[in-house]
Amino acid sequence: MTDRPHGASSSVSFTFDVDAEEVWLGEDPKNARRPVVLSQGSYGPRVGLASILEILDLNGVVASFFFPGRVAEAYPAAVESVLAAGHEVAHHGYTHRAPGSLTPGEQAEEFERGIAALQVFGVTPSGYRAPSWDFGPDTLRLVQQFGFRYSSNFMTDIRPFRHEGTEVIEVPVHWILDDAAHFWFSGDTWTKKISTNTEVEEIFTAEASGIARLGGTVVYTFHPQIIGRPGRLPLLESAITRAVADPHVWVATAADIADDARKQET
Ligand SMILES: [Zn+2]
Repeated sequence: MTDRPHGASSSVSFTFDVDAEEVWLGEDPKNARRPVVLSQGSYGPRVGLASILEILDLNGVVASFFFPGRVAEAYPAAVESVLAAGHEVAHHGYTHRAPGSLTPGEQAEEFERGIAALQVFGVTPSGYRAPSWDFGPDTLRLVQQFGFRYSSNFMTDIRPFRHEGTEVIEVPVHWILDDAAHFWFSGDTWTKKISTNTEVEEIFTAEASGIARLGGTVVYTFHPQIIGRPGRLPLLESAITRAVADPHVWVATAADIADDARKQET
């Protein structure tokens, strides 16, 4: 791991959920019969991911990539390219079904199969991001039981914290710093305007500088099928360049931020 440099007063983590087609399949299994709907997700590993990796590389930033197991199986080259660039690969379910809608037994199967799919690449994931950040009453217990060191799902705080009674460190997130909240467009409902980069950059900058002022951890949640669109890559670039230009900010993977939080406890 990389250690928090001396003098860093806040931290930033760039995280990417590589959902591919699974987000639409998780929403409605009938989407398996709708290839154009699914193609919105295929863009992520096929096209968006390479540009994202290039921007991270140019700026010397190491990031965290959460893969559903089925995406890892369908796009092994995507997992390999992320690992070859030195980034973290972590767990994002096996399918993209929301854990809160599953029985504990079904959730356990999601954990097991998701871990097995990543182990094929020599990865034992230390972090868990639930599909849609959704937990049921049993999910945290299962996260602990399956040996994850951290979760990145809750909105309780702006600093990492330990879930009471567990070994699990939370690396907290929020919709404000999630590209999907600002850019998600549903071809079924047509109820939402697609935001401009300027609008979203203003929202990102306000929240990130606010968290930094309070000494917290800024966790961006991006999706290759969303932020990887050609017109949005400059938004990712500006968030990264702002973070790396600040000498008081530690830019690190979610796993390193969780490990650092654990060290600070002792
Ligand atoms: Zn997802």
